[in-house]
Amino acid sequence: MEKVYERTKGIQEDKVSGFCPGCMHSTIAKLIGEVLEELDVLDRTVLVEGVGCCGLLMDYVSYDNTCAPHGRACAVATGIKRTNPDTICYTYQGDGDLAAIGLGETMSAANRGENFTVIFVNNGIYGMTGGQLAPTTLVGMKATTAVNGRDPKEHGYPMHMCEILNQLEAPAYLERCSCNTPKNVRATKRAIKKAFQNQIDGKGFSLVEIVTSCPTNWGMDALKSLDFLEEKMFKEFPLGVFRDR
Ligand code: SF4
Repeated sequence: MEKVYERTKGIQEDKVSGFCPGCMHSTIAKLIGEVLEELDVLDRTVLVEGVGCCGLLMDYVSYDNTCAPHGRACAVATGIKRTNPDTICYTYQGDGDLAAIGLGETMSAANRGENFTVIFVNNGIYGMTGGQLAPTTLVGMKATTAVNGRDPKEHGYPMHMCEILNQLEAPAYLERCSCNTPKNVRATKRAIKKAFQNQIDGKGFSLVEIVTSCPTNWGMDALKSLDFLEEKMFKEFPLGVFRDR
């Protein structure tokens, strides 16, 4: 029988996902692995994980990786890429890591047009540490540090990283996607591939933001969290291409 699908070589053979049921990290890990395999760069890829659920990726990938101190992934990736320009380097970061603790590193690397790829997983909450308010938490959305919901007077407004980075001159590519439907999964894979191809072509800083769910900390089952994405998250974080040079 003809084999029509097989597991990507970008994920270790003997591993099963330890992410929560309904979490999209597993889908994204698979897409990245497939893209790196198709581009034939698995043997020269280095992943820099952020801290949080994103850091769990180190248990699954089959290529080199390191974990940066909280928020410092873009600084570590800068060092790796500048000292080893042939390396294909990417950061994998959540909203707390990239947009709160690591905001300075993210903005600075984007502003310098560093030639690496950023995969930014935005689920609007701190996942691993227990559901605290993140820079991307929606107004009114409950968090363990905002039990009555985000109040702009107290917590400020959600931050839109693609829109913020789009004010800078240097970034080559900024796109926001999701993995909530098969169509959007395919679109996300195309975006991830473009972001890595840009790096191979030396075009500079490329960031793919993937708006995802966190059923565990949203307090919803997997299907309800998909509705929440469509009804709430995409209204605040519209999908689309913000920059493509
Ligand atoms: S806590 Fe949230 S982000 Fe982390 S693995 Fe579970 S569902 Fe995914």
